[in-house]
Amino acid sequence: MRVHHLDCGSLREIDPVDRPGGPPLEPARAVVHCLLVETASDGLVLVDAGIGTADVKDPNERLGPDWVAFAEPSLDPALPAVRQVERLGFAPQDVRHIVLTHLHRDHAGGLRDFPHARVHVHEAELAAARADLGATYRQAQLAHGPRWTTYAEQDGEPWLGFDGVRPLRGLPAEILMVPLGGHSAGHAAVVVETGDRRLVHAGDAYFHHGELDRSAPVPHPVLEMVQRGAEVDRAMRLGNVARLAELGDGTEVFCAHDPWEFQRLQQWPTQDRP
Ligand SMILES: [Zn+2]
Repeated sequence: MRVHHLDCGSLREIDPVDRPGGPPLEPARAVVHCLLVETASDGLVLVDAGIGTADVKDPNERLGPDWVAFAEPSLDPALPAVRQVERLGFAPQDVRHIVLTHLHRDHAGGLRDFPHARVHVHEAELAAARADLGATYRQAQLAHGPRWTTYAEQDGEPWLGFDGVRPLRGLPAEILMVPLGGHSAGHAAVVVETGDRRLVHAGDAYFHHGELDRSAPVPHPVLEMVQRGAEVDRAMRLGNVARLAELGDGTEVFCAHDPWEFQRLQQWPTQDRP
């Protein structure tokens, strides 16, 4: 399966964190890392919806002024997933499915640009979003009535140290949803088996590639503040990050906002691991 790595956001610039033995890295804007997967039988599958066209047009109403002031999204009208899908030569309705790591504003804003798509998400995440009064989730981003398909986390099977892992209704078996709690109520990772390697989109389970260092995890100082403000279960999140770090060769684990992971995966396989 062909996979495109898309930045559907472009957030504030962050400095790299020096790590012994790592390649030199430049400051970069944090990304909103989404995947566009071309499947043989089920059209295009978008993993996370990013910041959408309505968010770019009306950021204060859709994203909230405090979040906009802190995250500094570029609001470039060329970045929403729908515009990037079109530039790749597809129509918006070719995106038949959207699989979400979670429903926070920088992951769900693009849903409205694909009203015909089936949206796959954990039941607990949708329940948390519906119960929220605007502090964490944005009701305006969900008001158009997405075509939800929800999953109970306990229903899946054990898989590589994780529990509750499952394929998704109407999608090929190469795409899996993995319960990865801690950051939000029903947070998930999304796995795409491309044939030559396994991609694991870990959402906001962690924010910086240094956190996957098994001997000495290195969070990013700015992003760590954001994580501590957002996470709902720190111990569960850290346990899941440790499990992600154990996944072996042939597996590419990445999160939603690390720009250096994004740069490496866009240039794969020529770029060294940061
Ligand atoms: Zn996020």
